[in-house]
Amino acid sequence: MKSASFIAPCYNEELVIEEYYRRVTAVAEKTPQYEFEIVIVNDGSTDRSREILDQLAEKDKRVKVIHLAANQGHQTALFAGIEHASSDINIVLDLDLQDPPELFEEFVSKFDEGYQVIHAQRTKRPNETFFKLMSAKIFYKLLKFISNIELIENCGDFRAFTKEVRETICLFKEKHKFLRGLFVLVGYRQTVIQYDRDKRYSGETKYTLFKMLNLAADAVLSFSQFPIRLILIMSFIMWGASLIYLTKALISHFVFSQTIPGWTSIIFLQVFFTGLILFFMATIGTYIGRVFEQGQQRPAYWIDYKKNLDE
Ligand code: UDP
Ligand code: MG
Repeated sequence: MKSASFIAPCYNEELVIEEYYRRVTAVAEKTPQYEFEIVIVNDGSTDRSREILDQLAEKDKRVKVIHLAANQGHQTALFAGIEHASSDINIVLDLDLQDPPELFEEFVSKFDEGYQVIHAQRTKRPNETFFKLMSAKIFYKLLKFISNIELIENCGDFRAFTKEVRETICLFKEKHKFLRGLFVLVGYRQTVIQYDRDKRYSGETKYTLFKMLNLAADAVLSFSQFPIRLILIMSFIMWGASLIYLTKALISHFVFSQTIPGWTSIIFLQVFFTGLILFFMATIGTYIGRVFEQGQQRPAYWIDYKKNLDE
C-alpha cells in the first residue's frame, strides 16, 4: 500500500488545528488506497496549540507532532516537517486551511502521470491586500532578474513531491532556506496545477511585514550573488567613464589649452582610484561569494535514479 504525508507548520493556530485534522482525515477516508500520516510541526506556539496537538496525537497514531522548543519561522518549521516525514508522497500546506487538502486527488493524478514535483499555483487570492499582491509581483520579477532560478508566479509553499525529492531537499544544509526556490532548483519532473486560495479558516496571519522582509532577504541572499557582482560592474563603469573623461581632458588641455591647471588630473585620479578600489573589492567579493557557496553546504549533485548500480 502506498503512503502519503501531509506536512504543515503550526504557530499559534489553536482555533484551526481541529478543523485541519477533520479536513485531512476526510481526505484520507475518501482515498483508502493510501496510508496517511499527518505531520505537524509546532513552531514554538504560545497558545493552546501544544495541548491540542498532543491530544490529537494521543487519540490518532497517524498524527505525528514535532514541538520545536522555540519559534524558528515558517520555512524552518516546514523543513523540520519535511525531514520527519516518511511516506512515498508528501504534501506541504499551511495549517490555516488556505491551501485545501482536498487537492490531494489532483496531486495523485499528476503523480500517476509521472511527475515528481507538483506546485500548486493560486488563481484567486481573496482578502489579500493590494500591497501584498504588488510587493509579491515586484519581488518575483526582481529575483528572476538577479538569480538563476525562475520562481513560479503566485506559488507559495503548497506543493506535493515524491520521496526521492524529499530526500534531496534534506541534503540542502543551508541555514536560511527559501524552500520555494529550492524546489525549483532541484529539477526532477515538475508541473503546476491551479487552485483557488481560500480565506484563512480562523485566527490572524502570522506573517508580519518583518517576517516577509526576512523571507525576501533570505531568497536574495541564498540564491543570488548579484549584489557582489554589482561591485565589479560598477568598477568597469567608473573606469570606462574615467577613460572617456581623460580623452576629453587631454584634448582640451593640449589642443585647446583652456583648462584650470590641476583640475583635470584631480578628477581623473579620483575616478581612476575609485574604480581601482571597487575592482579590488569585487575581487575580494568573488572569494567571499565562494566561501558563502561553500558554507551553504549544498550538495554538488543529486540523483533521480540509477540503473545497473547497486543501492
Ligand atoms: N507559521 C509558522 N511559524 C511562523 C509563522 C507562521 O509555523 O513563525 C505557520 C502558520 O501557522 C501557518 C503557515 O505558517 O500554518 C502560514 O502562515 P500564515 O497563514 O500566518 O501566513 P499567510 O498565509 O498570511 O501568508
Ligand atoms: Mg495563511
